[in-house]
Amino acid sequence: MEHRDLVIIGSGMAATRLVATLRRRGDRRSMILLGAERALPYNRIMLSPLLAGEAEWQQLVTHSAEWYAQENIDLHLGHAVVEVDTVARTVRCADGYQVSYNDVVFATGSRSALPPLAGIDLPGVTGFRDYDDVTRLQQATHRGGNAVVLGGGLLGLEAAVALAARGMTVTLIHRAKQLMNRQLDVLAAQYLQQAITARGVTVRTGFAPRAILGAYRPTAVVLDDGSQIPADLVVVATGIQPITEIAAAAGLQIQRGIVVDQRMRASAAHAYALGECCELNGETVGLVAPIWEQVDVLAANLCGEEKIFAAKPYVTMLKVSGIDVHAMGEQDVSEDVRMLTYQDREHGIYKKILVRDSVIVGALLYGDIADSQMFFNLIQTQTEIGSDYCRLLLAGELTAAPVKARA
Ligand SMILES: Cc1cc2nc3c(=O)[nH]c(=O)nc-3n(C[C@H](O)[C@H](O)[C@H](O)COP(=O)(O)OP(=O)(O)OC[C@H]3O[C@@H](n4cnc5c(N)ncnc54)[C@H](O)[C@@H]3O)c2cc1C
Repeated sequence: MEHRDLVIIGSGMAATRLVATLRRRGDRRSMILLGAERALPYNRIMLSPLLAGEAEWQQLVTHSAEWYAQENIDLHLGHAVVEVDTVARTVRCADGYQVSYNDVVFATGSRSALPPLAGIDLPGVTGFRDYDDVTRLQQATHRGGNAVVLGGGLLGLEAAVALAARGMTVTLIHRAKQLMNRQLDVLAAQYLQQAITARGVTVRTGFAPRAILGAYRPTAVVLDDGSQIPADLVVVATGIQPITEIAAAAGLQIQRGIVVDQRMRASAAHAYALGECCELNGETVGLVAPIWEQVDVLAANLCGEEKIFAAKPYVTMLKVSGIDVHAMGEQDVSEDVRMLTYQDREHGIYKKILVRDSVIVGALLYGDIADSQMFFNLIQTQTEIGSDYCRLLLAGELTAAPVKARA
């Protein structure tokens, strides 16, 4: 059996960032990435621009095959890991390949969570998660017709606009009363809905799907009010589910994700988990910013340094050309928070900041994101902004009054 110092299960964003970080630190241990996907590791975030026709595949690939060879990082792609023995410290792939390890990292990510609807298994019903999904969606757009997108969060919106731009008749169904309800308030969601509608997408909020009709392919989606929306294609973007089966079978502690401590250690010796498959402080993640922090923590610890994960605020952005939406930090208007808003209906601009004890703790920007980085810095550094909030909100300027960074 072959042996590698570090075996990483998954060849996605967390996995590739980890190997690159270790090599950048000068770590020369032997490593192998075992990935279920056949494609060279790529930037998953860019699947949306790829589907929209705004990016080429080559722009997504994070490192060339030559780079892995030069860095002496082995890639075993297109073969899922089926078993991990954390006592014998071995990993086995579906193709029979086996390798022993000093340390193993689970970086298996998530899959699209498919709701238990009649018709969900039909061909023509797909998630929006990987390169194969995008290939399927691109093929569907060549046939044209009606697409129904389930889910009005970031992924659903990006998929809906991309499919409409490729000529499909698109209806987006969202269970909550407003789009992106986890990030936006009612007003920002109204602006967003107008902009999405202007891109040719019919938006229906406050409805849940009840079934997908069709014998061999979808023909319609039935909603909870009994109405039927014609559908040749159904894209499910209603959430993600961490992939934990292999870790669970290996006896690791699982809740929603693979449970890790502040050093990314899972519940067996020499086993770690990273990215969307792991659960840290009772939380799983769905954006790369906290994952990059996890990677830094694990890389440091693998190199013998003591580093502990510390949660930080991050920015959520919608990737639809011409629609600028940034949400960062806290979004709940609790009693101890002061809310300031600015609205310019004519130009489609809406800005909101949340301030607690003279420190900005959250911001929401729609239509004008010029000050996004400034607000994010103020949130991160917990800078006291003085009392001239209006000037900050309107002009993006701090007053001459002394300001103090707390962090
Ligand atoms: C369309 C789209 C747009 C997105 N846009 C944004 C964005 O704008 N901003 C943002 O911050 N985040 C965005 N995300 C989320 C971001 O891509 C993820 O948070 C990130 O990819 C998670 O990294 P990961 O390594 O944990 O999982 P992944 O990147 O999903 O990698 C996991 C890999 O493990 C493989 N795997 C699973 N099981 C096995 C097994 N048994 N054996 C071997 N391999 C296995 C999977 O096939 C996959 O290749 C987007 C995601 C999608 C799908």
